[in-house]
Amino acid sequence: MANSLEGRVAVIFGLANKRSIAWAIAQKLHAEGAQIAITYQNERLRLEAEEMITSLPGADGFQCDVSKDEEIAEVFRQISARYNGKIHTLVHSVAYAPAEDLKNDFLLTSREGFRIAHDISVYSLIALARAAEPLMTDGGSIITLTYLGAEKVMQGYNVMGVAKAALEATVRYLAGSLGAKNIRVNAISAGPIRTLAARGIGTLGDFLKIVSERAPLKRNVDPSEVGTTAAFLAGDGASGITGEVIHVDCGYSIMGY
Ligand code: NAD
Repeated sequence: MANSLEGRVAVIFGLANKRSIAWAIAQKLHAEGAQIAITYQNERLRLEAEEMITSLPGADGFQCDVSKDEEIAEVFRQISARYNGKIHTLVHSVAYAPAEDLKNDFLLTSREGFRIAHDISVYSLIALARAAEPLMTDGGSIITLTYLGAEKVMQGYNVMGVAKAALEATVRYLAGSLGAKNIRVNAISAGPIRTLAARGIGTLGDFLKIVSERAPLKRNVDPSEVGTTAAFLAGDGASGITGEVIHVDCGYSIMGY
């Protein structure tokens, strides 16, 4: 279905570089006709991000650190002004945990590492949804990114797995909270992909190898496939779907031994 998102505005959080899942999603939503706003975390990422954003005709870049309430308020002020107070899609493709808490045995997870992982990877979805809600006057679709480490023990994923479990529960609670406004909230559970954030997981190479051997499709997922699913969730084809976690992982998560 071509241009299924014509006339819609999509705001995407989490662009770091060309490997970012946020970028694959931005490209697909753009190809489907959506007007795209993309945010990046800080000044350090600005140059590369703005160059990429310029390559998508009509797209705009904004800076926002999601751990700062005042930056969230400011970016939504700018977005509201730019898009006449109306957006349709919010994509949350943001996660972080301190390196030591991913490297160490899970038992050694620090209080501060736990707090940071949950603040940036989970609470930010609630904060962004709350800021987006007044602009979703025609209803909307909120999409976040999760991983199988929420459901199963994946060695080396550690506190991020616990944060993803909280994120998936947050998806359900937000879906309950926003449903009456016709705002749908869903998560995509993506298979492992080589990105900047994933590089922090020391066992990433093992995850990729095992998926390519054991997943029903005998390969790893391509970021563009995550983008296609995000475009589906953003569109009317998914109008009856909310509170779901959709696996886009070449089927790996269904396998037993
Ligand atoms: P990435 O490094 O490209 O993206 C992570 C983004 O989070 C970066 O753009 C980073 O700047 C942003 N971020 C971190 N702290 C932030 C803050 N305080 N404020 C604003 N932004 C902040 O890596 P990615 O793999 O594309 O990750 C995107 C999402 O996909 C994450 O939620 C990740 O957990 C999830 N995911 C990734 C994989 C994978 O294997 N790569 C698999 C499943 C789910």
